[in-house]
Amino acid sequence: MAFQMGEETRQVQGTWAISQYKFRIESSGLKLLCDGMKEKKLLGIRCSQCGTVYIPGPFYCRKCLIEINEVVEVEPTGTVMSYAAEMADVRGNLLEEIRITAMIKPDGADTWMIGRIMGIDWKKMKVGMRVKVVWVDEPQGNFGDIARYEPLAE
Ligand SMILES: [Zn+2]
Repeated sequence: MAFQMGEETRQVQGTWAISQYKFRIESSGLKLLCDGMKEKKLLGIRCSQCGTVYIPGPFYCRKCLIEINEVVEVEPTGTVMSYAAEMADVRGNLLEEIRITAMIKPDGADTWMIGRIMGIDWKKMKVGMRVKVVWVDEPQGNFGDIARYEPLAE
């Protein structure tokens, strides 16, 4: 195993029944986001009352409980809010290469998106780190259009 347990690392035994969770996804905001990705743009929805920018955009503001539909483009740069260094797949098989999956708050948005970060050693990852989107060469209008995120040079 490539990873050694340190004094401050605790191992917790248990099962996380991921497949038991149900998520309700509003399709209009996802369609907007995917349509934008086709042109290498990140499109969200802004609340006209409180200014909160959601990506993907819901049809109502979670804070104001009013309908919202103002489309805004957010930046392809953002901040890492949390991350996980994955050393094994869901069945416990060790990965050949450690994967970094992060929650990223795009600049100009108030919500977070999930993404894969490449181009950095996982031990150098930090919450608050700045990253940028790397698009695939020919976007198709789906989440695969974001090839990865890479650290921004500081
Ligand atoms: Zn609002």
